[in-house]
This record gives sequence, C-alpha cells and structure tokens, in this order.
Amino acid sequence: MNKKLTGLALSMMMGATFSVQAAGVTDEMITAKAPDNVLSWGMGTQAQRFSPLTQINTKTVSSLVPAWTFSFGGEKQRGQESQPLIYNGKMFITGSYSRIFAVDIKTGAKLWKYEHRLPDGIMPCCDVVNRGAALYDNLVIFGTLDAQLIALDQDTGKIVWKEKVDEYSAGYSMSAAPLIAKGLLLTGVSGGEFGVVGRVEARDPRTGQLVWTRPMIEGHMGYKYDKDGNKTENGITGVTNKSWPGDLWKTGGGATWLGGTFDPTTGLAYFGTGNPAPWNSHLRPGDNLYSASTVALDIETGQIKWSYQTTPHDGWDYDGVNEFVTFDMDGKRYGGKADRNGFFYVIDANNGKLQNAFPFVKKITWASGIDLKTGRPNYIDSGRPGDPTKGEAGKKGATVFAAPAFLGAKNQMPMAYSPKTKLFYVPANEWGMDIWNEPVSYKKGGAFLGAGFTIHPLNKDYIGAMRAIDPKSGKIVWEIKNNAPLWGGVMATAGDLVFYGTPEGFLKAVDAKTGKELWKFQTGSGVVAPPVTWKEGDTQYIAVVSGWGGAVPLWGGEVASKVNFLEQGGSVWVFKLFSK
Ligand code: CA
Repeated sequence: MNKKLTGLALSMMMGATFSVQAAGVTDEMITAKAPDNVLSWGMGTQAQRFSPLTQINTKTVSSLVPAWTFSFGGEKQRGQESQPLIYNGKMFITGSYSRIFAVDIKTGAKLWKYEHRLPDGIMPCCDVVNRGAALYDNLVIFGTLDAQLIALDQDTGKIVWKEKVDEYSAGYSMSAAPLIAKGLLLTGVSGGEFGVVGRVEARDPRTGQLVWTRPMIEGHMGYKYDKDGNKTENGITGVTNKSWPGDLWKTGGGATWLGGTFDPTTGLAYFGTGNPAPWNSHLRPGDNLYSASTVALDIETGQIKWSYQTTPHDGWDYDGVNEFVTFDMDGKRYGGKADRNGFFYVIDANNGKLQNAFPFVKKITWASGIDLKTGRPNYIDSGRPGDPTKGEAGKKGATVFAAPAFLGAKNQMPMAYSPKTKLFYVPANEWGMDIWNEPVSYKKGGAFLGAGFTIHPLNKDYIGAMRAIDPKSGKIVWEIKNNAPLWGGVMATAGDLVFYGTPEGFLKAVDAKTGKELWKFQTGSGVVAPPVTWKEGDTQYIAVVSGWGGAVPLWGGEVASKVNFLEQGGSVWVFKLFSK
C-alpha cells in the first residue's frame, strides 16, 4: 500500500512537473499562432496581423460592446503605442515610460505592475513610447528607454534577468517589441538621430546572454559569444569605406528601432534600418549601406543573407524600418513593405530580389519611380535639399519642398495582410515638408541631423488614409480618409473585418472588401497602437490600447492644427459581442 501511495505521489509530482513545463511559451506555440492567445508582436512572427476568428464578422460587429477597460494610471498619460500579448489567462501590456502591466483577462483586474526606474538623461527622439513585449517560457521580456532589456516572471512580475544593451547617454534607447525566433531573442536599438550605430542582437531568452551581434552599418565588425560570454569576431559587415566616405560610418545611424519579423519557412529574420546619420546627405556621398534598408539575417549564423536598400543615400530621413511582412503570392514567398519613402515594395523573401514597387501615397517628390530591373530609385535631383557648402559659408543650404514628410508615408503603425482577401491594409499619411541642410559635427549624445524642417499637410480635409492595397497590381482597392494623421496599427480577420484606431480616439471596424465603416467606439484618447483579437472559451475578444502621443505632436509642424486639441491618456479597452 505504501508503495502504491509512493507511486501515486510520484506520478502526481511528475504530472505537476510536466504541467509547469507545458505552461511555458515555446517556439512551436509561437509558430502555430493558435487563435486562443496572442504570443508575439504582429500576431505571429510574420506580422501579418491576421486572425482566422469569425465570431465577430461583418454581420455581428454592430453588437460589439466593451467587456472591461484598464487604466495605466499615474501622470504618465502619453504615447501608448503598445500591442497587448495574451497568454494563460493574462494580458501583458507595456505602457509609456517603460512600464509593463499584467491583467486578468476575464475580469480586467490588475495582477502586477513593473515600473522601470529611468535616469534623467534618457534621449528618446520620438516620445516615451513602448510598442510591446515578447513571451518565452515563463518570461515576459521588454526593452526600456534607457536601452536595457528586462525579463520578468509572467506570474509574479519579479525580475528574472536584466541586461544593459548600450549607453543611453550616447543616444541609445529601446522602444520596439523584441522578437522570438527559433529559441533566440532578437532586438534592435533606437537612436538614429544621435549618430548611434544600428544593430541586431541575438540572446538566449532564458538568461539574456548574448549569442551574436550584427551591426547594420557597412564597416563594423559582428561578433559571436560563447556560453561564458567570450566574444569572437564574426565578420565585418560589408567592406569598410565602400559605401561610406572617411570616418562617417563610425557614427552612421541605421537604427533598427522598429524591431524585426521572422519567417519560419525561410529561416530568415527581417530587420528594417533607419536613416544614415547625419541627415545632411552631402557629407556622405555613396549609398551608405545598410541604412534605409530591409536586411535579411540568417539567425543561425548572425550573417546578412541579403539586403535591399529602399532609399540609397537617403537625404530626407526616410527610415527603412517598416515591417517586412511575408506572404504567399503565385506559389512563392514574398515580403511586403510600405516604406516611409512612399513606395510599397514586394520582394522575394528568400533572395531579396525586387518583384514590384509602386507608390501608395499620391505625392512623391524625391523619385519618379523604382526601376524594377536594377531595384534602384529614379531620383529627381531637384528633390534633394541643397548642400550648405555651396552657398554662403556656415549657412544653410537651399530649402526644398519634399513629400512624403520625414514622418513618412507610413511610420511605426503596423499594417495588416489578409490571406483571405489577398490585400494589404496600410495606414498611410499624405504630408510634405520644407527641408534644408546645415553644417553639423558629431558630439556624443547630441542631435546629429545637420538639417531643419517644417511639416505641412498636403490637403485641407485629411492627412491619414487607410488604404487596401493589392500587392500584385499595385492598385489601391479602397481608401478611408482621416483628418488627423493615422498613427495606430491595423488588424484583419477572417470575419472579413479590418480594425484600426484613429488619433481622434475611435477604434473602427470596416468591411475588408469594400472599406465600408460598420462599427466604431470612442476610447477616450487617441489610438496610436494596433488592435489584437483572441478567443477565450467560446468568446472572441478584441483589444486596443488608447493614449495619444508619439512623434506627431512633437515634430508635426503645421499638422498641429489637426491634433493639438487631442487629449492624452493611457488605458486598454477589451470588447466582445453583446450577450444577455
Ligand atoms: Ca530617423
């Protein structure tokens, strides 16, 4: 009898052990994209932001009502660009100023909060935002404005590991959601306006220990790390001075500030890179690789498999950071990218060969098109701001009017792709800028632009335009204009719905095929974050974070008249269909 009991106790213990293991997030679960949770930024590492759920659909969406809402509290009511994650009965939401909350998914009750203690000298260029966390095993991991990575226990909110990524005093910060791919934690850095050097780092998500690093500016050395943290060289990125003159590559920008995507079928991670530094392009003749590019990384080796530069020799701050969303077309795997420079690119996800490129905004002044044979833009030379050394010494160069504005035809707000309609849903903005160049020299921790600017709306009645885009034909299938610039993200569902938020505070649901508005809800502050959906039991839920802020109110110039009445906030809203 004792033996039996012992055996029973043992099997119960083993069962308990197994259930603890089963409760952790695995690579297989992240890849499987089960609709009863949201395990990664992008709702899957390809970042299609598509859900197969259909309970909320074009016929039922009119009875969508709030289930609960949760306030981030405090005085830090600004710039909420975060995408919630859903797992194991909990929602994990990051807030502005490097905060993270865990909330009970059924009741909206707070489970725990972690508030990162930020030093006074942080230098985020574009508000105190954070775009979300990553889940792995029993951890929830996010980056902070002082360039640290924090891993917390999902159940308790206690810190499990903490790693400093770089010096905030040199302009480094972190705002993107980390990416989990094949057991690695992949992260980028922000700070392209301060002359940092963009890079991608791979770490062990369980310990934070570095596995490899890959700088994104040509001339810098990559490294790999053994289990004891000893580093060895892993090849120079490109060839020193090939696409950069003199020493400028040492402070060359190319910040990987929006993070990356990963496609399990290609085995590649795709990171976008920001502007070359400084903005004044006359100081750095050449293509300035690998700035303003999509860079495909073999995550096993930390090597660049291919790169595609959307804006060679950028002179307008056309960061190439926008998400590369892989999808199937004609039996092949491509990636779609709505670039800040105004063109939408369709690129072979395996080898980086350009398949198609077309404008997704109405006014582009810097290039007349993209040559599909060479993959290079056809520049309009008069569209580049003038060289300050050509005029009076020490004065600014000739001002040009350029479109899109540097805040981009699309910025951080992620698009969606529906494999059902085969359309991309792109939150676009129509604006331009006066831009000029000035003399500048690098000083650690100082702004490294060499340029000045004022943004202008192009049309009286709108800046934002939510557009459904056919990647094959390059046609805009439908559009919905929006007075203020769109700055939230998009989600598509198999219920033939597209959800997106507006700075005016509405979360909207529209027909994915026609763009007809079917539902909207006022969240109380501007929406600058992407919605998500999941299923709990038999019920489909939708969630979105609300809280106006981000780069527009800081840098928007004459756009202020369209946004300066908007109120700040900080909360998450959850919706479900009404039931008695
Ligand atoms: Ca930039």
